Amino acid sequence: MKTTSRANPLSYLSEQLDDLKAKGTHFRLRVLDDEQAAVCTFDGKKVINLASNNYLGLTTHPKLREAALEATRRYGVGSGAVRTIAGTMKIHMELEEKIARFKNVEACVVFQSGFAANAGTVSAILGKDDFIVSDQLNHASIIDGARLSRAKVLVFRHKDIAHAEEQLASVRDAPGKKLLITDGVFSMDGDIGPLPALCGLAEKYGAIMMVDDAHASGVLGRNGRGTVDHFNVHGRVDVQVGTLSKAIGALGGYVCGTRDLIDFLYHRARPFLFSTSHPPSVAATCIAAFDVLQDEPERIEKLWENTRFWKKELALLGFDIGGRSTPSSETPITPIIIGDGKLTMDFSRELFKEGILATGITFPTVPEGKARIRTIVTATHTTEELQQALEVLARVGKRIGIIGN
Ligand SMILES: *Cc1c(COP(=O)(O)O)cnc(C)c1O
Repeated sequence: MKTTSRANPLSYLSEQLDDLKAKGTHFRLRVLDDEQAAVCTFDGKKVINLASNNYLGLTTHPKLREAALEATRRYGVGSGAVRTIAGTMKIHMELEEKIARFKNVEACVVFQSGFAANAGTVSAILGKDDFIVSDQLNHASIIDGARLSRAKVLVFRHKDIAHAEEQLASVRDAPGKKLLITDGVFSMDGDIGPLPALCGLAEKYGAIMMVDDAHASGVLGRNGRGTVDHFNVHGRVDVQVGTLSKAIGALGGYVCGTRDLIDFLYHRARPFLFSTSHPPSVAATCIAAFDVLQDEPERIEKLWENTRFWKKELALLGFDIGGRSTPSSETPITPIIIGDGKLTMDFSRELFKEGILATGITFPTVPEGKARIRTIVTATHTTEELQQALEVLARVGKRIGIIGN
């Protein structure tokens, strides 16, 4: 058969990839050969894993594993439909009721991911005549949700309360609804959103207050209840988003709020309406995870103990772990700021060769000139593993000139 020859219409993508290669920021995916754990095997190499969001080690917890297997045996592997058609199983409802009780709110809805929860919620509750006042470093899923809503977006400088107030005041007399939105924990710097002050602003200007607690779920607050609990601003945040994909160890995102907010999202949130619900095994896993948060608080204590040790030792070695040119981390997310994108990727590659997985993060995920290695320690890293990782970081850091000798 004769094929007609024509120019490849996607050749511009190859050109852009060549640009990335020239800049040194092109990457290949690292592939995990075994379980997501503190020490595991990527691309055939055993490494100390400083890159996952598996804060509490729940990805391999025996109770969660057993819950997933049991649910698969009883209910099969898939839900077969979107929630509003035939894909709402009893186990989905059970998980939502469990989360609502845990967070002490009226109701909860679970989405396929945290990304879907944010994008689906922001785009559903606001329209083109409304305003979104959003922290400059908020997560991509909030930004995409804001775009989909067609509301006017007013960005305020990172954690700058005065600037947030200026933005709210500028639309005070406009008829549209206002949403004030922040990440609970910022995913690239590890600092915590200023919830009490933002809640005060939302109250003063009659705005809806929304928090994305993806990196705070299972990490901050009593038993990992999140930033609302951490700051004791119960009842002052209208929309709380959390993830089931990080500390909870499985997959999903959830929205907590009033019964009517959740009922409205059932009717208008597009990922809920147009994308199939979780397999029963995922819901069962998450139910078991919330039991573990209640029953094994020592996991969170160990996470914070490791975090304090890690930050102290990295700073002693002379690494810039934020606070100089970037916000100061207050959580287990500890960036090592390098600045240059290529140097960052080189550092990451050299670390991997010596048995450390620590991902380099460059523009556009972080601003140009703020490239970094992002490290996350978990509750399951032993002190010996952390010490070994520090030894490698120091050696490689000196060799390529990131820290002095
Ligand atoms: C990871 C993350 C999300 C997305 O959660 P997933 O469940 O992985 O889709 C949303 N917001 C923030 C701040 C995140 O860090």
